[in-house]
Amino acid sequence: MPRYNYYCEECDDYFELVHSMTEKLEDCIACESPSFSRVPSIPAYMQKQKIEKDSKSGDLVEEYIKLNKQSVKEEKQRLTNKSYKDEG
Ligand SMILES: [Zn+2]
Repeated sequence: MPRYNYYCEECDDYFELVHSMTEKLEDCIACESPSFSRVPSIPAYMQKQKIEKDSKSGDLVEEYIKLNKQSVKEEKQRLTNKSYKDEG
């Protein structure tokens, strides 16, 4: 089945829907507003937002690695000081 892009003015959001060619959706699937119309494509800036989100999480990953390195160091020190009596 073909894929269609819709835009809802009420939600101010884009929807990617899969339905048959004969079917035509006129109400928003989320808020049932009739301000729901088919658009040729989801604009690039909407897709850019997604990429920005990804790069943000990329920064988070980097931050996490830094923290993790620190905690690995701490963990090593902890293990060095730890006596085997504490295990199990
Ligand atoms: Zn809506």
